[in-house]
Amino acid sequence: MKGSEAVELGCCVRGRLAPSPTGALHVGNARTFLVAWLSVRSRGGRVVFRMEDLDHPKVKSGAAGEAMEDLRWLGLDWDEGPDCGGPHAPYVQGERIGFYREGLNRLLEKGLVYPCVCSRRDVEEAQGAPHDMAEGLYYPGTCRGRFAGWEEAAAALSDSRLPAWRFRVGEGEVSFVDAFHGEQRHRVDREVGDFAIARHRDGAGYMLAVVMDDAAMGITEVARGDDLLSATPRQLLLYEALGLQPPGYFHVPLVVGPDGKRLAKRHGDTRIRLLREAGVSAESVVGLLGGWCGWADEGEEVSPRELLGRYDPATIPTEPVVFGAAAWQALGITDVPG
Ligand code: GLU
Repeated sequence: MKGSEAVELGCCVRGRLAPSPTGALHVGNARTFLVAWLSVRSRGGRVVFRMEDLDHPKVKSGAAGEAMEDLRWLGLDWDEGPDCGGPHAPYVQGERIGFYREGLNRLLEKGLVYPCVCSRRDVEEAQGAPHDMAEGLYYPGTCRGRFAGWEEAAAALSDSRLPAWRFRVGEGEVSFVDAFHGEQRHRVDREVGDFAIARHRDGAGYMLAVVMDDAAMGITEVARGDDLLSATPRQLLLYEALGLQPPGYFHVPLVVGPDGKRLAKRHGDTRIRLLREAGVSAESVVGLLGGWCGWADEGEEVSPRELLGRYDPATIPTEPVVFGAAAWQALGITDVPG
């Protein structure tokens, strides 16, 4: 975003809460949203709520409304969103498909996107020289220059699959400074290869949508879980290709279970909704989340607003937070729901 646009938007700091309605909000997601909210609100900034519902097979009906209710119950609010509107409406990605298509067209015109018919299995079989597997599969560019266009690629598929659009990654390093993790340097060309930006002809996929939306909505800070730290270099390549100004990034470590694995159902049911139904107060949940970051005392009941003056990103532990017996105890739950 250029300086003049920031002034027009009426404030400098703009952050967003961008849940995917693929399941119920649990304490891990809630902690990330609390940090994102405090980071923006503590500087007098504006919060945008955006619903990221493009991951169709995983989207659960009702989850979008429930996520909003749960966040409001915790005491978080926003200035723009599906329920309150705003200058960048709609705030639901599924209603912005035409907009993403424009971005896809711009990339197509520049020759930066091509249709790909490879299945996951094809990509697995095409793995050549060893590369950084931390990023999952490396795509060796099998379909680069292979088809004249989408129709030709679609015609090459005999099953019910559709081609994906892949972004052509140029050679070189991508670097950025994360507000939490510090300097990051990546070789997307060697670690990931050309990556998928849309799984539909009409250009709707997470990577492209998140970049276009954050830029269009004037977002200056993306605060989110550090499971997305490794997606950031890909997103920065898209910003560059589309001629858009990227936001700052702030990736917060995830909450994990006692086994060190990302918080999940097997660690007990930590859904916010369930805690609420069990009679736990929003203030004790926020106290627990804030306590993990060094802003609340053990067992303290506190609202997000009360944490504004205590917010300090420097006290967020660098290690993942463990949700275990002490956390259940802090919430007053002795019989852990499974
Ligand atoms: N909607 C994504 C999720 O819930 C977050 C995307 C982002 O923050 O960039 O995982």
